[in-house]
Amino acid sequence: MKRILLHVCCGPCATHPVIELQREAFDVTLFFSNSNIHPEGEYIKRLNSLKEYAREVKIPLIIDAYDPAQWFEAIKGYETSPEGGARCRICFELRLRKTAQYAKSHGFDWFTTTLTISPHKNASVINQIGIQIGKEFSINFLPRNFKKKDGFKKSVILSKEYNLYRQDYCGCIFSAKAKK
Ligand code: SF4
Repeated sequence: MKRILLHVCCGPCATHPVIELQREAFDVTLFFSNSNIHPEGEYIKRLNSLKEYAREVKIPLIIDAYDPAQWFEAIKGYETSPEGGARCRICFELRLRKTAQYAKSHGFDWFTTTLTISPHKNASVINQIGIQIGKEFSINFLPRNFKKKDGFKKSVILSKEYNLYRQDYCGCIFSAKAKK
């Protein structure tokens, strides 16, 4: 089986991609690397929900260090960018780079991300970043658009079945403010 490290932004977004990847005969490991999430209480809530899901489906979960200071440093100067703009690009890059780094140093054949399941995120931007980072680390990035074929809708149904916590904003402090 091909081993894949799946960057996961939260439990609900993992549900449908995991099924899709297992259908394609990937041996999936989840990787939670999300220093963008604010505040810390929200980070813990999303992580706990993912832990429940990982236990339920019996898939290994790796938890990366939570380092919001590094995230704020990376997006410095782009705080006011609209959602989907430069700040989000940097945010995707940071998380995908950490995923690729871990995958490369732990013998995975592939890496990818659940981020493309969001109807608010441009899959081609995320896939371009993933491919570029894959080249940097000499590891395969699997480009996907998990929202396709009702992927997002399916993830909503599955997350209800698993009784997972679903947040109402993307993750960072700026997206939290924008929802108000
Ligand atoms: S809106 Fe979402 S993707 Fe964009 S910077 Fe904030 S957490 Fe990252």
